[in-house]
Formats: sequence, C-alpha cells, structure tokens
Amino acid sequence: MKFEVTIIGCGSAIPTVSRKGSSQLVNHREKYFLLDCTEGTQYVLKELKISLQRIDHVFITHAHADHFLGLPGLLSTMSLLGRTKEINIYAPEEIETFIHTFLTCTRASLSFKVNFKKLNFNSPETIFENKELTIESVPLLHSTNCCGFIFREKKKPRPMIASKISEYIIPHYLISGIKEGDDLILPDGKVIPNHKLTEEPQKSFSYAYLTDTSYHEEIVPQIQGIDVLYHEATFTDELKTRAKQTKHSTAKDAAKIASLAQVDQLYIGHFSARYRSLDVFMEECQSIFKNSHLTFDRQTIKIY
Ligand SMILES: [Zn+2]
Repeated sequence: MKFEVTIIGCGSAIPTVSRKGSSQLVNHREKYFLLDCTEGTQYVLKELKISLQRIDHVFITHAHADHFLGLPGLLSTMSLLGRTKEINIYAPEEIETFIHTFLTCTRASLSFKVNFKKLNFNSPETIFENKELTIESVPLLHSTNCCGFIFREKKKPRPMIASKISEYIIPHYLISGIKEGDDLILPDGKVIPNHKLTEEPQKSFSYAYLTDTSYHEEIVPQIQGIDVLYHEATFTDELKTRAKQTKHSTAKDAAKIASLAQVDQLYIGHFSARYRSLDVFMEECQSIFKNSHLTFDRQTIKIY
C-alpha cells in the first residue's frame, strides 16, 4: 500500500526543457488522482508507464493555460483507446466550456461520459470522499478564481490483537466493528473495552497541493499539521514585488506558510522559467523552514 505523488511538471507559465507546467499524479493505494494537467501531461504519464485509463478524477486548480492545456489531448487519447468508464473533472466552469469548444471545433466526441463538478471559490468544501480518503478544496488568492486541494486519509482501522479472537471466541461478523472501535459484549453481559482487543491504528497521512497563490495566511488553519505540503514558489525574494503583482509566492512566502501551519515537510515548485539554478530557492526556504525540498519533473515523493 502506498501514498505517493509524482511530479509531472514543476514549472510555471513558460515551460523550459527541464520543467513542464503544473501537473501531479497522486497515487493513493492504487487509486489515481490527477492534479492539474499541463501541456504534455500524457507524454510524461506514458514515459513513466502510468496507465491513463486508471485516472478517474482530475482536479484543475484554475483556468490558466499552464494548468489545463493538456486536458483535451489526454481525454482524446483516453477515448481513442476505447475508454468507457466515466471521468470526473473538478474545475472552474471555464474548463467545461473549453472542453466543449474543443470537441465542437474538432467535430469529435468522447467514448465516455465526463462529469464536470464546479469548484466553489468562496469557501472550502469536501469535494471527494471514498472509504479511505477525503479531498477538500482550499480557496487561494490568485489573479483568477483558484483552489488548492488537500488529500486527507480517514482514520485507519484498529488492528485486532490476534490472541483475543480465540481468548473471547469472537465471531467473525463482529471483527470489522471492533476494528472500527466497538467494545465486545460477552454472552454473560460483561463488556471488554476496545483498547484491550485492538492496537493503535496506523497514522493517517495528508497531502496538500497549493498553487497558484499569493502569500495567503487565511489558509493556515485549514492546512495546520499537514504531513506533506506542496506550495508554489514562483520567485525568489529578489522578485517579491513581481510576486505580489502577479499574485504568486516567493520561496520565503511558501516557507512562512509551512512554518505557521507546522507542516511536517514542504515541497516547492511552479518555478519561473527565468531561473536556471534553484539553489537560491532552497536557501531562502530553509532559512525559515528547515524541512524544505525542491521538486523536479518526474520525481516521486513518497508519503509512505
Ligand atoms: Zn495561475
């Protein structure tokens, strides 16, 4: 079982040879979630031998080209490969218009249904939930409506202490309830508290993807204690005025947010094409938040 994030692109609006625009693939226990879909996303997925058809949920932060231009190509390829499974796209409404326009102009149709789910940019919402995970939106502060996303694992089941099953002759049908925290009531009415039957559950992990945004302290309570935070850092401190003008963050801004939110690890990306070396980003981040890391294209971050 794994929870990992593959960086498809860590660049910003202008791609470079080594850095595509924004896109990431989250693999949570073999369920695939695509975050943004920059130009060329499908090529990188192919190169990494990741099956496109396993992606059932796509999350687009905002309608800036470097975050969604790969979407028509990706959907077309899925269709040409004969996909029949529905796909869910969580995005600003402009993305739905864009995909419809693309299909009209190319006189094409898709072999599967696309469910567009409009994001709410005014307040956080839980936009996805399965047995193991929730995904929340995080309204950000950018030059257009923009949301980040938080993946939070739900509380994990408490492992049974094997010897207790035979000791109390626990019937099979009670086991899943006990793993969820139920006490055991014996035939004579005696109650065996849950903590005597089970062990502490494994830790539940979380991942936040926050791009694009100005320095935005209001998000801190929502991301408090996140295990792995990806925060955009388009510029170094030298260009902080430019960062403010374009509603982006500097490396120091990202580190300040990580520090205030007491996250475990910070990864930064969305680097401006003007930077060849990223050393200054790292120095600036680590001067504020020690556990900071750069991202690079095709890197996989293992949450566990
Ligand atoms: Zn943007």
